[in-house]
Amino acid sequence: MNQSADAIVIGAGMIGAACADALAARGLQVTVVEQDAVGSGATAAGMGHLVAMDDNAAELALSSWSIRLWNEFVDEHPHNHEYSRCGTIWVASDEEELAAAQAKGSNMRAHGLPCELLDAQALYSQEAALRPGLAGGLLVGGDGLVYPPKSARILLDRARSRGAQLVAGAVAAIEDRAVLLRDGSRLHADSIVLAAGARCTELLPGLPLQAKKGHLAITDRYPGLIRHQLVELGYIKSAHAASGDSVAFNLQPRPTGQILIGSSRQFSASLDAEPAMLSRMLRHAAGFVPQLTGLNVLRCWTGLRAASPDGLPLIGPWPARRGLWLATGHEGLGITTSLATAQLLAAQMTDGSVPIPLQPYLPQRFMLSPSNHV
Ligand SMILES: Cc1cc2nc3c(=O)[nH]c(=O)nc-3n(C[C@H](O)[C@H](O)[C@H](O)COP(=O)(O)OP(=O)(O)OC[C@H]3O[C@@H](n4cnc5c(N)ncnc54)[C@H](O)[C@@H]3O)c2cc1C
Repeated sequence: MNQSADAIVIGAGMIGAACADALAARGLQVTVVEQDAVGSGATAAGMGHLVAMDDNAAELALSSWSIRLWNEFVDEHPHNHEYSRCGTIWVASDEEELAAAQAKGSNMRAHGLPCELLDAQALYSQEAALRPGLAGGLLVGGDGLVYPPKSARILLDRARSRGAQLVAGAVAAIEDRAVLLRDGSRLHADSIVLAAGARCTELLPGLPLQAKKGHLAITDRYPGLIRHQLVELGYIKSAHAASGDSVAFNLQPRPTGQILIGSSRQFSASLDAEPAMLSRMLRHAAGFVPQLTGLNVLRCWTGLRAASPDGLPLIGPWPARRGLWLATGHEGLGITTSLATAQLLAAQMTDGSVPIPLQPYLPQRFMLSPSNHV
């Protein structure tokens, strides 16, 4: 094994794998250190919904660009990613939410995303299993889904075919231009990329990140019950709740015919599944699709999202440590934004240019004012 590289990437989740691939593609000698399986962590726990989100301009710029990159990437071998371009329907419960759907559609269309406003009749012609009485929705046609651990593996394999090395081990400490592994060995590189998801704070305690736990459940196979990823418009409120526990209706038709049911949010670093939270989430989902109550749930699990104080990821140099780069804090959008994240990071590390502004994601924004810290 080469003990010295241009860049060491800590973590081979979706973000680390994408960064390793983008850096290797630019000709850097990359070493990836992963303590567990490739694509474990939040990547293995996530829904894999590739979704354009527009809470603010920076989020929309990153997610819409990344979805374009995903489309090119999965077009090569869609089956390998278990990809489906299912589209998202943002479900509006009442007229007020339908007006919000309309505004969302205008915003997304301005970014080149194909959208169609659905009145109630159009909504039920798309998704007959939804409960009666809903007002309509917004269909965003370019959204899709992947099976994240597989996609992470594909990215890492491509990075390795470009010369990257994978080291199985746990990083115990980040040093000046080196990392110390738990077995006592040391790897050296000019640049260290920290992409350890919710565990980043173990290696860099000052980092402004908090773990947000999410529960998911998956059913037996019920092909055709739903066709699109269905998300309530109220999801956005719940996703950004500054504190407290919340659930939101988020239903996904897996290519296997199974239905993935989400999701919950709690500030918690424990991976324990909580029956009370699960039943709250399942009851809420059944409030939108009543037939869910008769389906067989096979498995439930949890994962930890790494949440930053302003909801945007940290992509770029960490000014407090020479040679240290961050690619983390993607919360519930890291699968979607992984490919654009990797391009943003690699461009900064190699003096390249990118099609969207870098500034909103630069980690230095949390060093300007101590009040920005969580
Ligand atoms: C319930 C849930 C649902 C989600 N749904 C979606 C969704 O539908 N769409 C979407 O876009 N995003 C979704 N996400 C978010 C997405 O899963 C994450 O943003 C993304 O997976 C983060 O990837 P990552 O590589 O940063 O972190 P992780 O996937 O956690 O990877 C970090 C890796 O670093 C390794 N590591 C940690 N510490 C060390 C160390 N000291 N040494 C070596 N290795 C280390 C870990 O083993 C792990 O493999 C969801 C998340 C959850 C929890």
